[in-house]
Amino acid sequence: MVWSKGWRLVKIHQTYSVEEAARNQGVAKGTVRLWLKNGLPALNERRPCLILGGDLADFLKSRKKPKQTCKPEECFCFKCRAPREAAFGEAEFIPITQTNGQLIALCGQCTTLMHKRVSLAALQLLEGIRLITIKQAPDRIGIIRPTRLNDN
Ligand SMILES: [Zn+2]
Repeated sequence: MVWSKGWRLVKIHQTYSVEEAARNQGVAKGTVRLWLKNGLPALNERRPCLILGGDLADFLKSRKKPKQTCKPEECFCFKCRAPREAAFGEAEFIPITQTNGQLIALCGQCTTLMHKRVSLAALQLLEGIRLITIKQAPDRIGIIRPTRLNDN
C-alpha cells in the first residue's frame, strides 16, 4: 500500500488538481490517479480533473487502516503492519497499574515483539492465547507475585 502524509493536511474547502493533491500528500501523480481509479471522487466534468479537498480527506480517512482492528487475542505487529496472533498462542502480561498492563507477545508471522496495552478485565477475553504469564512490574517486585492464568 502506498503511504501518504495523511488526510489532516488536506484543506477540505480547497479544490486540488491531481498534481496539487500529489504534492499535498507527498506522493506521485500516478498514485493520485490510482486513488481516482480506486474510488476517490473527482469533478469529472471539469478538465483538468479536479478533486474536492473534502472528498480527498474522506477517501484518505476511509483507506486508513483497513481491517487493522486487533481481535482481543491479537496484537498489532509493526513489522507486518497488521494485527497478528501471538506466536504459539503465548503472551506475557506485565501489570502497569492496578487495572491494566502491557501484553507482550511474539508475532506469529515474523516473531517481532508486539506490545498491547490491555485492561485486566480484557485479559479474561483472551481465549485465543492459551498461556499467559503474569509478571510483576519492575517497580512492584515483591508486591505482586507471579501468577498464571489459563495454565493447562
Ligand atoms: Zn509480524
